[in-house]
Order: sequence, then structure tokens, then C-alpha cells
Amino acid sequence: MVEDMEKIKNLEELPGVGPAIAEKLREAGYLSLESIAVATPIEIKEVADIGESTAAKIINSARDACDMGFVRGDEILEKRMQIGRITTYSNNFNHLIGGGVETQAITELFGEFGSGKTQLAHQVAVSVQLPKELGGLERGAIYIDTENTFRPERIQQMSEALDLDPTETLKNIHVARAYNSDHQMLLAEKAEDLTKEGDIGVIVVDSLTSHFRAEYIGRGTLAPRQQKLNRHLHTLQKIADLYNLSILVTNQVMARPDMFFGDPTQAVGGHVVGHQATFRLYLRKSKGGKRIARLVDSPNMPEGECLFRIIEAGIRD
Ligand code: ADP
Ligand code: MG
Repeated sequence: MVEDMEKIKNLEELPGVGPAIAEKLREAGYLSLESIAVATPIEIKEVADIGESTAAKIINSARDACDMGFVRGDEILEKRMQIGRITTYSNNFNHLIGGGVETQAITELFGEFGSGKTQLAHQVAVSVQLPKELGGLERGAIYIDTENTFRPERIQQMSEALDLDPTETLKNIHVARAYNSDHQMLLAEKAEDLTKEGDIGVIVVDSLTSHFRAEYIGRGTLAPRQQKLNRHLHTLQKIADLYNLSILVTNQVMARPDMFFGDPTQAVGGHVVGHQATFRLYLRKSKGGKRIARLVDSPNMPEGECLFRIIEAGIRD
């Protein structure tokens, strides 16, 4: 009886899922129990080549295994009281997002090429390491790099500016290059192992969407792309909740001056990201090398804009 009650941890342990089906599920990007738990029977039916009722049973077992039930309001409040904030080193930017990049949340930086997404991601990977009284979490960073734009030299510059030892700072940033969207999803799952061992305060995914965009071209492939992206974000959100850390993702979009107050992310997987990100910031270039960040929607912060700069020392007002 005790054995029966033991928690399911792997896909293979779900009733109705053997090694062959587990393999098919993983190949389709369903890497965790959570990803199954939030899927629809039709999706699972198709990728695993099984009947719809079996698919539904598998999903229900995954849901049971994930404890996806009700939580008391006071428990949520208690958890929210643990939220930490990482300074961006721009007071304006911090103020816009309520004090810094929040843990237990996904923050999305979107904007066109050169708008400062990668620079902000580098800054956060450095400042997360600062002591709490200086705006950090005294924890390291995981950096999933899809565009090969991570620059250790830049980390050195930024850490020197904060009187941090550049070598130590670099040692606390675990960088992985993602070669395609499946690899990227796998790295997000692997990131969880690393967070268990070490002490990670932020996981950066720069860029979240580039592989997905490149691999799923054309209208017909939009739905599967969004589903996969959705699962990826779900994995990340789960890690953010479990380990009280921040997720910082970037999303490159075309500038669309014609619809400035509309949704400029319309073109690129914006929808799914939009619904899962807690903070969405639209970055754009301004006069004199300055940048503008606009908070697009957040559950508990007013919309607004601020100016910031990118200098050799990093992000500043
Ligand atoms: P993206 O949004 O495409 O990721 P980046 O974050 O890479 O954009 O921003 C690139 C811009 O950052 C450059 O065009 C430059 O203006 C600025 N930048 C990069 N490195 C430095 C530096 N060492 N000193 C000052 N500005 C820099
Ligand atoms: Mg970039």
C-alpha cells in the first residue's frame, strides 16, 4: 500500500505509459509530468499514437502526480512574501517593475534588434550575485543562449563596475548554448537539476523565441509552435515557483511604428508569451543612445515607461 502511494516522478510510471510511449512524448517535447498535465487529450493522442480516452487517463494521472489542486489564499500570500527582487542597476527600470526583477515570475523583454535585451540580461546575471542589501540575491545565474550573444568580457566589465571579482562572477554564471528548440527545452529541464545543487537566482533565456520562430515557418505550423512554447514556459514557471527564482526571457520583435499603442508582439509568438509572462517590457531605442522601457501588462503594477542607458559599466539611469 505504501508503495502504491509513492509519488510518480517519471513519465514511464504513469499508468498506460511504457518506455515506447514515453519516448514518443519526449520526442514531441513533453519532457515533464507538468507538461503532460497541462496538455489536452487530443495533443497527447496525436503525438503518442494512442486512443483519446487513454490519453485523458494519462493526463489525469499526471495531474494527480503534480498536485494541481487548490491552495489556500493564506498559503499563496505566504509564498508571495518570499518574493525576491534583483536590481537592474537602473533605478528608473527597477521602479517601473516594482523594485527589480521578481522571483517566482517570468519577465519578458521584447523589442527590436539592439534595443538592449541582451545587455539587460547580462546585467541581471551579474547583479543577482550581489548581497541582498545591494539589490542582489547572493545567488548565481543560468544563461541559456540561443543566439551566441553571451559575452564573458561584458560580464567582466559589469562586475568590475560593481566591485565584484570578475572571475568569481563568471564562475557563478552557468552558460549553455541551445542549438534548436528541443535542445532549449531540454536545457530548461536540466536547469532544474542545477538549481537543486547550486544556488541559482535567475534563469535567462536569450532568446526565448528565435529557434521556435526559425523552425516553425508558415501559418499551418503556428499552433504546434505555440503549444511547444507554452510547455517550455510552463517548465520555466514551475522552476521559478519551486526554487523562488526569476526567469528572464527575451523576445525579438519587429518595430511596428504604425501600431505603437497596439500589441507590437503580434507577429512573433507574442500571444503565448504574453499570457504566461508576469512582466512584459517593451524596449526601444530613444534619442542620444538612450532606451525606453514600457511595462505592457502586469497583474499588480500600473503601465508606464522609463528611460535607461547602456554604458560600459552596464545598465544605468
Ligand atoms: P538586443 O536587444 O538585440 O539583445 P543588445 O542588448 O545586444 O540588443 O544591445 C546592443 C546595444 O548595447 C549596442 O548597440 C550598444 O548600444 C549597447 N552596448 C553594448 N555593449 C556596450 C558597451 N560595452 N558600452 C556601451 N554600450 C554597449
Ligand atoms: Mg540580443
